[in-house]
Amino acid sequence: MIAKHIVQKIRDVVGTDNALDSELDLFGYSYDSSFVPLVPLNKPDLVVRPFTTQEVSRVMAIAFENDIPVTPRGAASGRTGGSVPLKGGISLSLDRMTKLVELDEPNMMATAEAGMRTVDLYNACAAKGLFYPPDPASWKFSTIGGNVAENSGGMRAVKYGVTKNYVMGLEVVLADGAVMQTGGKMIKNVTGYDLTSLFVGSEGTLGVITRALMRLIAMPKMRNSLQVMFPGLDEGCRMIHDMLQAGIVPAASEILDKTCLTVATEKRKMKIPPGAAAAVIIEIDGDDEAALESQSNRIKAVAASCGAILFRAASSRQEADELWAIRRGISSAIATLAPDHFSEDISVPRDQFPEVVKLIQKIGEKYGLLITVYGHAGDGNLHPSILCDMSLPGEKEKVHQAIEDIFAASLSVGGTLSGEHGIGITKRPYFAHAVGDVAVRTMKAVKAALDPKGLLNPGKIW
Ligand SMILES: Cc1cc2nc3c(=O)[nH]c(=O)nc-3n(C[C@H](O)[C@H](O)[C@H](O)COP(=O)(O)OP(=O)(O)OC[C@H]3O[C@@H](n4cnc5c(N)ncnc54)[C@H](O)[C@@H]3O)c2cc1C
Repeated sequence: MIAKHIVQKIRDVVGTDNALDSELDLFGYSYDSSFVPLVPLNKPDLVVRPFTTQEVSRVMAIAFENDIPVTPRGAASGRTGGSVPLKGGISLSLDRMTKLVELDEPNMMATAEAGMRTVDLYNACAAKGLFYPPDPASWKFSTIGGNVAENSGGMRAVKYGVTKNYVMGLEVVLADGAVMQTGGKMIKNVTGYDLTSLFVGSEGTLGVITRALMRLIAMPKMRNSLQVMFPGLDEGCRMIHDMLQAGIVPAASEILDKTCLTVATEKRKMKIPPGAAAAVIIEIDGDDEAALESQSNRIKAVAASCGAILFRAASSRQEADELWAIRRGISSAIATLAPDHFSEDISVPRDQFPEVVKLIQKIGEKYGLLITVYGHAGDGNLHPSILCDMSLPGEKEKVHQAIEDIFAASLSVGGTLSGEHGIGITKRPYFAHAVGDVAVRTMKAVKAALDPKGLLNPGKIW
């Protein structure tokens, strides 16, 4: 509970309409897009929706003085419970801070407020021939602040990298309300510690990001999408491996197993050829038709050598968009297949992708669980999803064991727990094992320095 006079102080800063405390509002801010069980409910005591950095700063100062926990929140599309207010207090929603502050064409950089949607930043840049590449499947609703806080990746990571590769500087409000600027438009900058990077992937535990300065690149002149189908996942994995080994780096290359392929295509009433049990969706880009054709021909040859049963290049923008809509829709589509659904986010060295897929298939067989596989095969980031019914006797234990085995499989091939979704609540139990005691100690020292009262997104990561 937050005392009434403190709630009033906060209302004086953001306005009564932007400090919400009705039961319905509090419920609405108690969950995110992870599958963290809703019992017990993790409701905040107050939802605060500031409009400016100054308002964020004043709210943070009030919270600091009064020992109130603060959980930053973007669009709540996070997959690991990051924006769930585990200890109550304030849910600090950045959803009113959506402005594109500056599009600096000569320097090819954009400054966005934290609550701006990823797709809106992409579109604003694209309108000027500039390219902001990070494209999480959630980009129609995720925010730039959330993307930075999670160091989100996307389909194009294989060629263009992830969010951290584009962050040049940040405006961050610290736990006590102080406003800090990090980085800048300089390409070279070694003036002190790299504080910008410290906040990338910090999951709202070190400060509230209010603005982000993002590097842009020139928009590729042409793009096309390819669809390749295989009789099995092994062949699909081999094709991606062989393609990269041959020095062909597509903008994106995604793999889907049979379950994902079936449910995603059924939803869109698309037909798949008989015998298809895996699909690879690829985006290629370049400066002219000849560049695209040459890449496409080389990929077609690799696909044929790996036993492809269908190779198709999209013949129109609409067809290409349809292919990517299938991929973006998988996560929601497979969630309809079973009462419960646990989607992991392991990341392994690229050459270990085929091996870890085999290990996951064995884990499914061992526990008698349906584990579907899809992911960003080109960059080694895989989403094994366990479809289950937790109300069945013994199911919970089996699922938890299988998740542990999936993490162990990833670590055994030199990989890690999360490629893009972060640790949040759901991966906490496995975190220390993955990074080691010394790294945990160092991270906790950083946390203590920046958040001495432990008020920022408490209960996350550790
Ligand atoms: C269908 C679907 C597909 C997805 N696909 C992808 C994908 O391809 N790649 C990928 O990387 N992720 C993906 N995600 C996960 C999610 O969209 C990303 O993690 C995204 O970056 C979260 O953004 P958000 O604005 O929703 O943040 P939230 O979920 O609201 O918050 C995420 C974390 O960031 C913190 N945070 C949010 N805003 C701020 C801020 N301004 N300052 C400080 N901390 C903040 C929160 O406290 C929390 O810890 C997907 C999710 C869904 C539901």
